[in-house]
Amino acid sequence: MSATQLDLFALPKITPDFSSYDTILVAFSGGKDSICCVLHLLEMNINPAKVELHHHLVDGREGSDLFDWPCTEDYCRKFAEALELKIYFSWLQGGLEREMCRENQSKAPTHFETPEGIRSIGGQGQPGTRRKFPAKTADLSRRWCSAYAKIDVLSAAIANQPRFTHCRTLVVTGERAEESSARAKYPSLERHRCDRRDSPKLKRHIDHWRPVHHWRRSQVWQTIRQWGIVPHPAYFLGFGRLSCMRCIFGSPNQWSSNFAIAPGQTGRMHEYEQDFGHTLDNRWSIPEMAARGKPYAAIALHPVELKQALSHKYTNAILIEPKKWRLPAGAYGEDTGPT
Ligand code: SF4
Repeated sequence: MSATQLDLFALPKITPDFSSYDTILVAFSGGKDSICCVLHLLEMNINPAKVELHHHLVDGREGSDLFDWPCTEDYCRKFAEALELKIYFSWLQGGLEREMCRENQSKAPTHFETPEGIRSIGGQGQPGTRRKFPAKTADLSRRWCSAYAKIDVLSAAIANQPRFTHCRTLVVTGERAEESSARAKYPSLERHRCDRRDSPKLKRHIDHWRPVHHWRRSQVWQTIRQWGIVPHPAYFLGFGRLSCMRCIFGSPNQWSSNFAIAPGQTGRMHEYEQDFGHTLDNRWSIPEMAARGKPYAAIALHPVELKQALSHKYTNAILIEPKKWRLPAGAYGEDTGPT
């Protein structure tokens, strides 16, 4: 059965007892599904003081600009400000580019913001060589970008902060069953990988909840519209998902769009194909992929959003009157991205 044929109503819908948690931690990408996780929590009248958003910077903070949308960090910051929520940023030093190019070096340290300032761990492992793109597969051991830039970074931030021991934390993420058959198999509530509730020393109780697992895309956009949340500029340019700007799963149209709006960084991705001696895709190089598609027509129609998307400062509104809200061109566009 494909993900789109799923009977979403048949999926179990579990709502945890929010009052039993000390902290509700939302893995916040800035995309529509993580926005809905936050809105859903607020609609359920949880105490906003318990909520904190965590965003992982896939390019790090050391100057790489290879993978992500320039405005994503500031969009996430402004979203948190608009909803009066705390936000913490975390990253693998040097981001995906440093890890991809690693040659006889240790894996870089991970840095994460905490209420007391930035903390760092790791960076002293055995030297090794990567010099490879992440593989386009659901297997996270070979699609190392998701693990190294996101999943492991959040785990490091949780496991290395004593404030998450001897208490109960709810981690919230926005995977939806409709996105892929792999995601359809995720449970809506389970123990988080950092849970150590049975350790007498740590007593780190962490549950992992996926509140929008059974939601359709239309329900996601309807909720965002009702709240009057302005989506990330990438959606207005025609992108259907807010993944990395140059996600390894990019479609021909997305590569073509990337060449049109950011030829420098997109060309550098292709230079890595030549340097590594293998292409990101099994069949085509990045320019060949781009040649098979076309830039999204919405790009030419949205100069303001294009400027915002390529800026490190997000200056548009986050909250507007719902009656002025516009559905972005990418809302029901290509759904390519991590599976
Ligand atoms: S969005 Fe794409 S490129 Fe970025 S970490 Fe996820 S799978 Fe990798």
